[in-house]
Amino acid sequence: MVTLTINGQEVQAEEGAMVLDAAREHNIYIPTLCAHESVPPYGACRLCLVEVSRNGRQRLVTSCLYPVEEGLVVKTDSETIAGNRKMLMELLLARCPESNVIQDLAKRLGVDKTRFPLEDHGNCILCALCTRVCEEIVDVSAISLVNRGVQREIAIPFYDNADACIACGSCAYVCPTGAIKLEDIGDTRTITMPNNSTEFKLAKCNVCGRYWAPQKQLDYIAGKVDLPSDFFDRCLDCRD
Ligand code: SF4
Repeated sequence: MVTLTINGQEVQAEEGAMVLDAAREHNIYIPTLCAHESVPPYGACRLCLVEVSRNGRQRLVTSCLYPVEEGLVVKTDSETIAGNRKMLMELLLARCPESNVIQDLAKRLGVDKTRFPLEDHGNCILCALCTRVCEEIVDVSAISLVNRGVQREIAIPFYDNADACIACGSCAYVCPTGAIKLEDIGDTRTITMPNNSTEFKLAKCNVCGRYWAPQKQLDYIAGKVDLPSDFFDRCLDCRD
C-alpha cells in the first residue's frame, strides 16, 4: 500500500492503482466520461484532470492514467483544474449540444453555455469506449475510429459493412452519452450509431416463443465453445 494525500486528506491505495481509483475508493469526486471498469484507462475525455505535486513541483495530469505514489499530494478542485475542466466542457457542449449527460455534467461543473460554434456529432464524444469494449472484451473489432481532425468518428467498415458485428449491444451499454442506441422490436434488434443503423435478427425461444438474443451473437458463442447443437433453442428463463 502507498499513502498519498488527496485534497488534504491522507488516503491509502494499492500500489499500481491510478489516482482516479484511489479517489473513488475514498468517495472523492473526480468527473470523468470515458473511464469504465471493463477496460484499461485511456484518458480520452481528460475531464479527470487533477493537480499533483511532488518535491515542490506541480503539474496537471489525467488521474485515470496517473499511478499513485508514496507521498504524492493531489488536488482535485483547484482554480486551475476548474478552469481547464470548464474549457473542456464548453468544447463537449459545442460538440454534443443535445446530450443530457453533457448538459448535466456541464451544469455541475459551472458551465451553462459554450463560446464555441455548435456542431452535431450525434452525441459522440470520441471517447472510444465502444471500440475498446468491442475489441478488448467482445473480441470482434466491428467498429473503429476513422478519419482525422473534425471528421474523426466511430464507424463500421466502409460505413455499411456490419458483417463483424454480432449485435451484442456492449457498445451501446458502455457509451457514456447514449450516442449508440439499441432497440429490440419483435424479431429485430436495431443498433443505431451516429452515422449508421443496422438491423439484426433475434432468435426465438422454442419453449416460451420470446425473441431473446441476437442470432449472430449465439452463432458467435457457439463457434467459440463446444456446445450441443440445441443449446440455444431455449432462452435463459426456460432452462432447467
Ligand atoms: S454490438 Fe457490434 S459493434 Fe457493438 S460491441 Fe457488439 S459486436 Fe461490437
